Amino acid sequence: MSTNKKIPTPEEIEQEFQEFVQRKYGGSVRLINATASETKPEAQTEEPEPKKTFDLKFDLKPKEIKKYLDRYVIKQDEAKKALAIAVCDHYNHVRECHENPEAADTDYSKQNIVMLGPTGVGKTYLIRHIAKLIGVPFVKADATRFSETGYVGANVDDLIRELVAQAEDNLELAQYGIIYLDEADKIATPPNILGRDVSGRGVQIGLLKLMEETEVDLRAGNDVASQMRAAMEFQRQGKVEKEVINTRHILFIISGAFTGIEQIIKKRLHQSRIGFNAAVVSQSDDAADYFGHVTPRDFIDFGFEPEFIGRLPVHVVCTALEVDDLFHILKHSEGSIVRQYENAFRAYGITALFADSGLHRIAEKAIEQKTGARALMTVCEKVLRNYKFELPSTGVSEFVITAEVVDDPDTELKRIIEDADYNRNTVMHEQIRRYEAQFYAEHQLQIRFDAEATALIRERALAQEKSTAQICGELLESYQHGLNLIKQNTGQFTFTLPKAVVENPDERLEAWIRESYTKK
Ligand code: ADP
Repeated sequence: MSTNKKIPTPEEIEQEFQEFVQRKYGGSVRLINATASETKPEAQTEEPEPKKTFDLKFDLKPKEIKKYLDRYVIKQDEAKKALAIAVCDHYNHVRECHENPEAADTDYSKQNIVMLGPTGVGKTYLIRHIAKLIGVPFVKADATRFSETGYVGANVDDLIRELVAQAEDNLELAQYGIIYLDEADKIATPPNILGRDVSGRGVQIGLLKLMEETEVDLRAGNDVASQMRAAMEFQRQGKVEKEVINTRHILFIISGAFTGIEQIIKKRLHQSRIGFNAAVVSQSDDAADYFGHVTPRDFIDFGFEPEFIGRLPVHVVCTALEVDDLFHILKHSEGSIVRQYENAFRAYGITALFADSGLHRIAEKAIEQKTGARALMTVCEKVLRNYKFELPSTGVSEFVITAEVVDDPDTELKRIIEDADYNRNTVMHEQIRRYEAQFYAEHQLQIRFDAEATALIRERALAQEKSTAQICGELLESYQHGLNLIKQNTGQFTFTLPKAVVENPDERLEAWIRESYTKK
């Protein structure tokens, strides 16, 4: 579609439409124009909407940002720090310009960011949360959208228009937004391969213009929304006013896996005479170890224009996630998908208890897919799909996602539905584990009922029609105090609790305390 094409007047549109209707239905059908000026004069006199404004009150400190990110994002500590600093610098500067436009420092170079790291390790997640914390709009796009051959129409300026849409047409707010361009490594054009993807260079130049400072016309978009806005404004006011947004304060973040750049860094480091780096690096084959040493030179060798990379002074590295990290994401991240599943089952009155053993097995399965934390959702969906389908129509009101469930979901589902005793035992077992975790959280004492003790507690809970937590609470009434005493005497803070603790808790505790004095 050509952008130069003249926008038809409402009269012309009406005329064309009238002709179409008559051609299709004959002269007896007439188009009644509800928006024509003579039938609806108030449309002409309608006041233009007042401009939305926004007052940026940024007063966060880097540590506060990091602390907030820690709640959601596991690991990536260096990335969180670097981002927190860059974001504070950026928005402090923006606030100064906002409060005192005359005094704005024209030499300031914007803290645009390059993020390196494998897929699914939290790059987007970090930025999304930063935008949310600051309260600015956020747009994410894949760089390939602009460079893929054969795809016509996407223009880097569209990113700015999307930001305005995200800001619900609040132009002032949109000017402080964040644009995040993923798969940015795909727009690199290695200098030694002639003729490869010239469009990548074009995209870099387009982005460079945005990152430096330019004004983007909001009415000039190729997308339907921009065209509609222009047409509606024309109808209302008889003309289309140019509406522009300045990109000076928009923060740009480009990110990607940058596969292959580690070879460039490695080569440079080995060639350099600084033995220190060579020694550190030569022992490693891990790409992330090299990412930390990346310089603008490496990005240029990778295929970025010097001016383009010059506008991205902050380099942030995210590292690959291990099984334990994935486990932590499931167990501790505030945004964990586990909450989502718990809620989904709760909607049917079913309590889904994710056991640590189950979470670990999910993490182990996910790591095999090599898509970072993204795979967690894939694994959970696969494991729990039939549970979501079947359980709401059964009498099962609680169940545990154990390692066995993750390994063989269908067999376990059958057992859970058909064998009520089995399910009740599993649930109680998990509840005892949760009691232990709670005990640790409250008293920093690691207790663990052994298998026999666990079985006894279950029996007692059933016989007395009490919850396992109640039974445990009664058994361990004086244990917090007693075990602390032992801890003081011997330093011991992990305790395996045998059957004797359930049979005669006080006797067992007293014997342990006596022993601890002799050890002391
Ligand atoms: P990418 O690094 O490819 O941008 P994302 O940030 O989009 O990956 O991660 C995909 C999803 O995986 C996130 O929405 C989040 O739920 C989860 N995730 C990824 N990394 C982490 C992490 N370090 N901590 C917590 N959750 C994470």
